[in-house]
Amino acid sequence: MKKPRILIIYTGGTIGMIEDPRSKALRPFDFSHLMENVPKVKMLDYEIDNIQFAPPLDSSDMQPPHWQHIARSIARNYDAYDGFVVLHGTDTMAYTASALSFMLQNLGKPVIITGSQLPIGEVRTDGEENLITALQIAASRERDGAPTVQEVAILFENYLWRGNRSTKRSADHFNAFKSSNYPYLAKIGLDIRYNRDVLSRGHSGDLRVHTELDTAVMCIDVFPGLTESTLRHQLSTPGIKGIVLRTYGAGNAPTAPWFVEAIRDTCRRGVIVFNITQCLNGGVHSNRYEAGDILAATGVVPGHDITFEAAVTKLMHLFALDLGHDEVARRLVTPLAGEMTVAD
Ligand code: ASP
Repeated sequence: MKKPRILIIYTGGTIGMIEDPRSKALRPFDFSHLMENVPKVKMLDYEIDNIQFAPPLDSSDMQPPHWQHIARSIARNYDAYDGFVVLHGTDTMAYTASALSFMLQNLGKPVIITGSQLPIGEVRTDGEENLITALQIAASRERDGAPTVQEVAILFENYLWRGNRSTKRSADHFNAFKSSNYPYLAKIGLDIRYNRDVLSRGHSGDLRVHTELDTAVMCIDVFPGLTESTLRHQLSTPGIKGIVLRTYGAGNAPTAPWFVEAIRDTCRRGVIVFNITQCLNGGVHSNRYEAGDILAATGVVPGHDITFEAAVTKLMHLFALDLGHDEVARRLVTPLAGEMTVAD
């Protein structure tokens, strides 16, 4: 058996951070520091290469060109490696995972994104375990030799999650990520137990990479007290093609005529309004309440149970394909990379 070949793409984040001796603040360090601090990596009998961002980023600074850089690095090295591990800050990890899931179509190899809550150089770090487990998942094969994971996934502490279903839900806990609308892909304990029924399968053909993204996207949160002038001001932001509208519960919004008319006018102008729920769990069911029905009649597109991170990046991806309004709307309600469950 050939040794697994894994490419690590180190983008930055707490996992590679050290304490500035003077200010005591955490700042990004470089990859050689990381390897020095995880001698155990050498105990895995893998061939491991790495690429690193220069300089490494706090993921709060992650932008679409960085996603493009990661996607291109994977595409360029796709045939040469069995799997990819992306080391990334936790703050925007779910956005990167979602974006990559749309950019890398027909993915047949694991792209495992991980990071840590404590710097890898600290005694109680979670970074060491996360890195080792991510490498093991990236190297895992089924009996027939096929990669166990064939999608973009986030590995954090005890779970492997589908990347475009994940959300960072804790700034403090080691189990920082969760997917509220999709089961875990694997549970990490004494061993790695894959939830094989829910792993992505059935891709055929070669990897297709779409790196273009269109950032003409914004978000509006509905809340009690939102005024007509604020809403109208937001809806008329110049150059915007798509708005993620975060509504209550099962996709409900105020039924006041000024609200309904403002949204209807926006849809009529050809702007896509993508309706997603503010709830962590569940999704938009526009026919459940009158308040949802009235909003649906304005022309908003239902986001079902998609996460905010996946909604934003899916819009950026689809707008870049130059498809025209109706086709973007059609693809928004069609799962492209397992990012939503269409229940209605
Ligand atoms: N601010 C850091 C980042 O996202 C936090 C982390 O890595 O956990 O890069």
